[in-house]
Amino acid sequence: MITLILFGPPGSGKGTQAALLVEKYGLLHISTGDLFRYEMGNQTPLGLEAKRYMEQGQLVPDSVTIGMLRNKVEANRQVSGYIFDGFPRTLPQSQALDELLRELDTEVSGLVMLEVPDEEITRRILLRGQSSGRPDDLDEAVIRKRIDVYNAETAQVFDYYHQKGKSHKVHGVGSVEEIFQRLCTTIDSFQNG
Ligand code: AMP
Repeated sequence: MITLILFGPPGSGKGTQAALLVEKYGLLHISTGDLFRYEMGNQTPLGLEAKRYMEQGQLVPDSVTIGMLRNKVEANRQVSGYIFDGFPRTLPQSQALDELLRELDTEVSGLVMLEVPDEEITRRILLRGQSSGRPDDLDEAVIRKRIDVYNAETAQVFDYYHQKGKSHKVHGVGSVEEIFQRLCTTIDSFQNG
């Protein structure tokens, strides 16, 4: 089983690349941002709770996020692997993921971080906002907040898996195809040990 964490700041191309990786490696793509947006669209209590944080570029509380993630994984146990996108974003989420995977008798295969400079990220998110329909992609103050939250709370997830020898960096600027090839080279290298 391959369990991949696709990591990087907002707007680094995780969603785009995850879609390609899913096809190539036959993994289940789990994006906590997409799950929250789905719940929001259906105006469920979970969606309404998440909305308050997402609108401001803040993280949804760990207890809510971890519970939702756990349900999704447990409901899809017959897959050949997972690609986590936008999760984990905090140390408690990382520990919860490790614990959950241990229960399933597996573990994180590797974390791959897409490295993209801040100015490029802001440019990409604003561009995406023109068609994504995501309010958090349209407001520059919210985008700035999301980048700040990434640097303050999320970046340390890289170090957490680095200490386990599982973190990898990939240059995230270039064409979609170029970046995809770089990702595949990295994934194939850690897959083969
Ligand atoms: P994303 O689609 O990954 O950019 O996530 C959009 C928003 O959803 C984030 O700015 C957070 O408010 C929320 N969110 C998504 N994933 C998580 C997570 N793992 N932990 C906390 N909040 C999250």
